[in-house]
Amino acid sequence: MQLKQLQTKISKIFLDNAKRDNLKVDEDYLVLKINEEIGEFVQSYLIHKKKCRPQKFLKPKDSHREMAKELSDVVGLAFVLSKTLNIDLEEALVKKWITREWIKH
Ligand SMILES: [Mg+2]
Repeated sequence: MQLKQLQTKISKIFLDNAKRDNLKVDEDYLVLKINEEIGEFVQSYLIHKKKCRPQKFLKPKDSHREMAKELSDVVGLAFVLSKTLNIDLEEALVKKWITREWIKH
């Protein structure tokens, strides 16, 4: 699946769920939400690394899966946010990371 297809599908799922839950989704909400997801990823990372209370420990395979889930939430929110902000994320990724056109000299 291409990046744009993935972005479109994930954005639709996110927005459908928000509509179902009567949530008003605007840019501010999405900026807050991606930060919430970053926090959830950090928490899952701390659990995976066992840098948390022992009661939260999981089997390594389970904690690794939790990290993957939370990181996919961060990326998913980046997809939704970029669509809302009218940012071509694929182009931005290429210009920032691959061709380095957007790197300041
Ligand atoms: Mg999450």
